[in-house]
Amino acid sequence: MSTHFDVLIIGAGMVGATTAAALSTTHRVGLVEAEEQAGYHTTGRSAAIWIHNYGPHEVRVLTGLSRDVYLNPPPDISPVPLGTARPIIYLAPEDQIPFLDGLIGQDLGITEIPLADVKSQVSAYIEGYAVRAALEPTSFDMDVAALHQAYLRRTRQNGGQLMLRSRAGKITRQSGNWHVETSGGTIVTAPIVVNAAGAWGDEVAQIAGLAPIGLVPCRRTAAIIDPAPYDVTNWPLVQAADHSWYIRPEARAKLMVTPCDETPMHPHDVQPDELDVAIGIDRMQQALNIPVRRVEHAWAGLRTFTPDRNLAFGFDTAAPGFFWCVGQGGYGIQTAPAAGQLTAAMVANRDPGPAGVIIPAINPMRFRK
Ligand SMILES: Cc1cc2nc3c(=O)[nH]c(=O)nc-3n(C[C@H](O)[C@H](O)[C@H](O)COP(=O)(O)OP(=O)(O)OC[C@H]3O[C@@H](n4cnc5c(N)ncnc54)[C@H](O)[C@@H]3O)c2cc1C
Repeated sequence: MSTHFDVLIIGAGMVGATTAAALSTTHRVGLVEAEEQAGYHTTGRSAAIWIHNYGPHEVRVLTGLSRDVYLNPPPDISPVPLGTARPIIYLAPEDQIPFLDGLIGQDLGITEIPLADVKSQVSAYIEGYAVRAALEPTSFDMDVAALHQAYLRRTRQNGGQLMLRSRAGKITRQSGNWHVETSGGTIVTAPIVVNAAGAWGDEVAQIAGLAPIGLVPCRRTAAIIDPAPYDVTNWPLVQAADHSWYIRPEARAKLMVTPCDETPMHPHDVQPDELDVAIGIDRMQQALNIPVRRVEHAWAGLRTFTPDRNLAFGFDTAAPGFFWCVGQGGYGIQTAPAAGQLTAAMVANRDPGPAGVIIPAINPMRFRK
């Protein structure tokens, strides 16, 4: 076990794992993770959907650049595609028409479809709920666990080291290196630290003596229900045009439902709130005739946003070698392959390729004015 690295990454969720894998080809990389299991927090709790037309422009650039890794992964990542087509149908009752027009008006391949098509694709649809509908055909389900594990495997194969049960508790800068004292009792050193701590991003910066950038972790709730008597295997994801709820088939015969809640909270092991589960089901049942006899499983995770809801990647100017990689909100999985490459390029001062155009807009120091 070495304790000195070229780069030390704090947090082994999808963001830390992709960054570690991209850096490990050229650098000695250490990855410290507070939990027993990498991916225990937000990465293991996502809805696992790739949606190109989602989030700010910079997010869409990374989402687009990540697409191929899911659909045609490199052999060491996966011998089979990690994406399965899952179109999205947007439903707009009268009061949501401006939202639907907003989606169609972006000229991004979302097109209006007749309501009869909704009924033919989603047999539980209650006619009369929506006055208009639209289809986004390019989205797909992502195999998050397989991708996350593949990046951790690539990191290890390149000599990188994953340290579980190792919460970074004390972080100081001494003689050109960061000294990170972990809950395991080990002191790990590196000239560069990458803050990939998700909801804990501001906390990690503060431990290192740096000012926070105003991250807001927001709870999102999801529940799994049995949609019997419907066979939902080939249903699209169905979403309200105003993003107030959506459903998506899960593990073939089940449905995931969410009220798209965004409740700000402090970073912790967040649990689902029964009321949010009930709200999600109620909103869904206004559009779909699905009796819900029992909730099979519910969970919640923290989607963490910066004050302008855009990404924050870059070095902190208040201390040498402290790199922020936070603010992935609801798009941290779909952007991860390209985000990892971009972060690695920025950390190693390499050519960032086409993702380089977004670097100025995602500078974390914009929150320090
Ligand atoms: C319900 C839900 C649905 C979502 N759906 C989607 C979707 O469909 N598509 C999509 O792209 N995204 C989606 N997301 C968002 C996505 O899951 C996140 O953007 C992504 O997982 C963020 O990854 P991360 O690595 O930054 O965070 P995390 O997975 O939370 O990783 C951060 C890690 O840092 C560790 N850590 C924190 N502090 C320390 C410390 N001091 N020392 C060591 N380790 C530390 C934590 O233990 C944690 O493991 C969804 C999120 C939720 C909750």
